[in-house]
Amino acid sequence: MYIIMLGAPGTGKGTIGNEICKKYNLVHLATGDIFRDEMKRKTELGMKAEEYISKGELVPDSVTIKMVEGKLDKLDNVLLDGFPRTIPQAEALNEYLNKTNKKITAVINLNVPDEDIIKRTSSRVICSNKDCGASYNTIFMPPKVEGICDICGSPLIKRKDDNPETIKERLQVYYKNTKPLIEFYEKMGLLESIYINIYSETTKEDTTKKAVEIIEKRK
Ligand code: ADP
Ligand code: ZN
Repeated sequence: MYIIMLGAPGTGKGTIGNEICKKYNLVHLATGDIFRDEMKRKTELGMKAEEYISKGELVPDSVTIKMVEGKLDKLDNVLLDGFPRTIPQAEALNEYLNKTNKKITAVINLNVPDEDIIKRTSSRVICSNKDCGASYNTIFMPPKVEGICDICGSPLIKRKDDNPETIKERLQVYYKNTKPLIEFYEKMGLLESIYINIYSETTKEDTTKKAVEIIEKRK
């Protein structure tokens, strides 16, 4: 099974993706998490990625595509979170899937109003343990104990790129490069959108339930 999570920064791709991975036993392939891990370990890839990520820009397609394909080769049941993020990445993925006889099950697009995105992203904290990857929100989805991950007990940290200035840049990049993927996958007949509005109290459970319904219908 191949599931793609689509959505602007901070829409909950990681959080909902995690739930789906648990339920269907999928590997969670989050390009942002992989880049952050490489950055922490100061690898060559990490240092290159940091130049772009710190400014809210995208890591170049050639670098990203090569990294993802290297990982996909070993996997059959995957949830892609944060990839593809540009049309060339989506085209490369299509080509790769055709070549390997694999099919996308569904593309789940999380649709959140802009004002909400800025609020959600500014108050986001993430688990410092890369094997956990849980994400919280100090306002809307706080951990049980402040600063500590509910799941694994590791300290929670703030991402460097979750500051209002970088978030605005990331939103611009989303509109320019990533939003066109909605139409791309709509044309392929794979798109499913879930509308989320924190003011109408859409919970993680509500959204997960909708995502599961989509997968059940399409698998
Ligand atoms: P968010 O969804 O909150 O923006 P991610 O963790 O998915 O966060 O991504 C963080 C950053 O990593 C992005 O702003 C971008 O610089 C880089 N990145 C992640 N995935 C990709 C990708 N597929 N292509 C290019 N850059 C990427
Ligand atoms: Zn954790």
